Amino acid sequence: MKKQVVILGGGPSGLSAAWELSNLGFNVTIIEKESQVGGLCRTITYQDIHTQQDFRFDLGGHRFISRNKNLIQSIVDLMGDELLCLERKSAIRLHGKTYRYPLSFRDIATKMSPGLSLRAMVDYLKITLFPGRNSQASRSFESWVLQRFGRTLYEIFFEGYTKKVWGIHPNVLSADWAVQRIPVLAFRDIIRELTGGRKRKHEAYAKQFYYPKRGIGQIFEQIAGEIQQNGTIIHLNAKAREVFIENHVIKGLSFLKGGHQETIDCDYLISTIPLPELASMVAPNSRFKVMKGSGLRFRAVRFLNILIDQPMISQNTWTYVPEERFIMTRIQEPKLRSPDNAPPGKTSLMLEIPCNYMDATWCVDDKTLFERVIKDLSALGIHVGPHVMDYFSTYARHGYPVYHLGYREQVEGLLQQIAPCKNLITTGRQGLFRYIFMDQAMLMGRHAARRIIAGKLDETQSEEIGLENELFEGEVASL
Ligand SMILES: Cc1cc2nc3c(=O)[nH]c(=O)nc-3n(C[C@H](O)[C@H](O)[C@H](O)COP(=O)(O)OP(=O)(O)OC[C@H]3O[C@@H](n4cnc5c(N)ncnc54)[C@H](O)[C@@H]3O)c2cc1C
Repeated sequence: MKKQVVILGGGPSGLSAAWELSNLGFNVTIIEKESQVGGLCRTITYQDIHTQQDFRFDLGGHRFISRNKNLIQSIVDLMGDELLCLERKSAIRLHGKTYRYPLSFRDIATKMSPGLSLRAMVDYLKITLFPGRNSQASRSFESWVLQRFGRTLYEIFFEGYTKKVWGIHPNVLSADWAVQRIPVLAFRDIIRELTGGRKRKHEAYAKQFYYPKRGIGQIFEQIAGEIQQNGTIIHLNAKAREVFIENHVIKGLSFLKGGHQETIDCDYLISTIPLPELASMVAPNSRFKVMKGSGLRFRAVRFLNILIDQPMISQNTWTYVPEERFIMTRIQEPKLRSPDNAPPGKTSLMLEIPCNYMDATWCVDDKTLFERVIKDLSALGIHVGPHVMDYFSTYARHGYPVYHLGYREQVEGLLQQIAPCKNLITTGRQGLFRYIFMDQAMLMGRHAARRIIAGKLDETQSEEIGLENELFEGEVASL
């Protein structure tokens, strides 16, 4: 008889595991606490009450890129004509000026005041020509950036933005995040550009990306359809509650659905829910439980979605807003990803506002937040006030795993707590506490499924995906 696999979480990693397993005839059940699949990659459809027209909003600006050709091919095959291939256009709005992203030195030199750009250049040259003076290991984000870009560029482009995104000072944020996310070569190009040399590595940026016509969540709705045809059961609005363990083997679990408790047996459990939550179910007396101020923390994100009666606002798919006086970190115009994200002649904006779960920003009512946002947008030169049709918020409680100094030891501690369970795999962005993209989450899900298929559960929990010591942006999207 085929084995019964229960998967906690119907995001990219959970669905990808189910796809792999159900294709081979395993009995798969997914337990998902939200009302739709996709996790952080779900798309919310919002109907304008006056016109009954649909607007679509992702939870933050999502795009699909990957270096894994096999994965790209499977998504291209799955989506067919529903998948668009788009050109990336990003900008940074800072002190009243718009800079291109990735940063161009010539842009900086021509737009910043001469005094400031000279200071930035001198700082940069100092750390580039005499790296030995500051050569202590870059453990923190701050020291990593200072050692590569100098103080002036750090203070202008990184310090405020990083504080806003993470809610902690860059000197207590681990350098791990910088290693994978900051394009150092872009800054070296500055020198080449200014001395008239040829640009080098910019070409390696993922300029193109894939995006489905009906929002990023369409990929995951489509996968859900495939796996249901294979017999997979998906319980929505179902929250995992308790696991039943006998002799280090998980025999089953309970979950709450529609106010009722249900139970299910399993031969294997794949979990993609936040690692601290899983650990507290598997090892309820764990000393590594999330503790205020000292344990693993997730940064939440609140999204303010604004419906606008205008055909278009901007040319940029992403606009970064580093200054701390503005509440948002990024502004997105969903229609620039797919024209189907807003009705003809109309558009929308989606603002990413990092916060902590249940803090003042998370809890404030929509009207107060909207008024604040409209003021910020005006100060940034985006005057949409008179054209707003409606607005509403969406929320991601587990938006970003916070890589504070020491987080790795905490993750290892939790993995050790759950390690004795022989038939349990924890994976994905939340399950391994890794700042990864959706393609990496999908590959992790596939990897988890293959361990079950091959009967190799004794392999290490923390496979290498998402721990690469390189910039992920440098990967190309095309086949
Ligand atoms: C603002 C933002 C922008 C992003 N942009 C991009 C991008 O452009 N490109 C890209 O590739 N990636 C992007 N990402 C990352 C991408 O969203 C994630 O890598 C991906 O969603 C991770 O998939 P996952 O399945 O591992 O986790 P998740 O998507 O978080 O899925 C976990 C699932 O578990 C469910 N769950 C949690 N607890 C329980 C419980 N107790 N019981 C049942 N279910 C539970 C959740 O509801 C969720 O559906 C972005 C992320 C954010 C926050």
